[in-house]
Amino acid sequence: MSFSTDWEAKCNRCGLCCHEKVIVEKEVLFDLDSYCEYYDPKTHHCTIYLERLDKSNRCKRVTWAKAMFASYLPDECAYVQWARSLHLRFAIRRRIRFIGGNRGDTSDEDSISLSCGTQFSNTVTP
Ligand code: SF4
Repeated sequence: MSFSTDWEAKCNRCGLCCHEKVIVEKEVLFDLDSYCEYYDPKTHHCTIYLERLDKSNRCKRVTWAKAMFASYLPDECAYVQWARSLHLRFAIRRRIRFIGGNRGDTSDEDSISLSCGTQFSNTVTP
């Protein structure tokens, strides 16, 4: 397995980075009703995963630097967990809040099982 494949394989397909999000003070608001056109909300997977970076100019690869510093990535993100396991996570911790969607519960901070190993470029820079 190549380094690149290994890195891609870390993604746990939570799909949160495929949704619109914005930082508001100490929170990150994820809009569960607004997501990439290639994201399938039923399967929670990217429908063009292998070609996503070519076909969607909004889709950006999650890099080591983002894993370490991007405060909009949620704790359940596998790249965040990787960085944290190596004591390389330096981003401030933000509360996650979900807007919209049908998650079957009312908690703001539960992790959701929603995929792609990428992120939208319209996220707010931390
Ligand atoms: S890269 Fe995106 S889909 Fe993969 S674990 Fe992180 S937030 Fe979830």
